Amino acid sequence: MGVAFRKIRSQLRLLNPFKGHAPDEIPFEIRFDPLTGATGRVFDLPFKAEMPDVADIVERSRKIFCPFCPAALEKSTPEFPKELIPEGRIKFGSATLIPNLAPFEKYAGVAVFSPEHFLPMENLTPETMGDAFSACVLYLKRVAEFDPLVRFFSINWNYMPCAGSSLVHAHLQPNAGEVPTNALREQVEGSRTYEQENRRNFWQEFVETEMQQEERYLQTIGSSSWVMSFVPAGFLPDVQCVFPERASLFELTEEDLKSFLDGLEKTLKYFLHEDLYSFNVSIFSVKGEPSHRVNARICPRLFPRPIGNSDIAYPQMMHKESFTVRPPEAVREKLLPFFRP
Ligand SMILES: [Zn+2]
Repeated sequence: MGVAFRKIRSQLRLLNPFKGHAPDEIPFEIRFDPLTGATGRVFDLPFKAEMPDVADIVERSRKIFCPFCPAALEKSTPEFPKELIPEGRIKFGSATLIPNLAPFEKYAGVAVFSPEHFLPMENLTPETMGDAFSACVLYLKRVAEFDPLVRFFSINWNYMPCAGSSLVHAHLQPNAGEVPTNALREQVEGSRTYEQENRRNFWQEFVETEMQQEERYLQTIGSSSWVMSFVPAGFLPDVQCVFPERASLFELTEEDLKSFLDGLEKTLKYFLHEDLYSFNVSIFSVKGEPSHRVNARICPRLFPRPIGNSDIAYPQMMHKESFTVRPPEAVREKLLPFFRP
């Protein structure tokens, strides 16, 4: 059967006030995720993001207590139990990894990038991001060794308040637990089903198909393959990274992590170019699941209109249905120069 990129084309009919109330049709697509079957709506509407007032956000954040700034970090943040992390906190280069006070998981950490309160998006490079990601991998490895029941791992990032971060001070959130989140469970179920039905690995075949079709494929960097998501997660299309030969985070080499950071930097440079100054990142990984592969998504976040409305509304919140105002294939054309200069 192979990997299928299924979509239904439809249209909304109306009398268009911008065309003298003449009969008109606005096309849209309902797309089916090739792995999970989950649907999302894709439109093609003119949209241009507006650069948020970053200086104002940073200035307001400086007036609020920041537990991640050097003056507070030692005193105000928790330490890990000694049996898990004997040194209490993990230090890796400029990054410090501490327990998360919010119990997102049985094992939940926060990796503070550096002592610097504000890490501008312009400065997000493999060099400035590497230590925090390496600290997360180190922490999750320790957790996996410490607690063999834990199988589901993720490294997550809300960059700036618009993406859900309560603090401007850049930090990652590594999580590990015994019960997958909905997204991870759907990935695992889809990977198993595909392998049973096709006798092939979904992720490898997915990357091969995307490369052949050249509609959403961006580039291969080392062991990582980069594509536009067929069913985007957010208001604007997101970028997906797959390691087709890596079944778990713990197989990633230093070189693999560098490949990820290279692709991440290119993606973020494009977001910045489009005045998108906020984003979410998640890296997904499972232990002991031979059909699954390490993968990640990088999704821009924004307030779409000057009133400051959220880019998440009833479709995502109540219907678990994404809607995206630009097709990923159109955005790919703009992203390609960043991946293949
Ligand atoms: Zn700070």
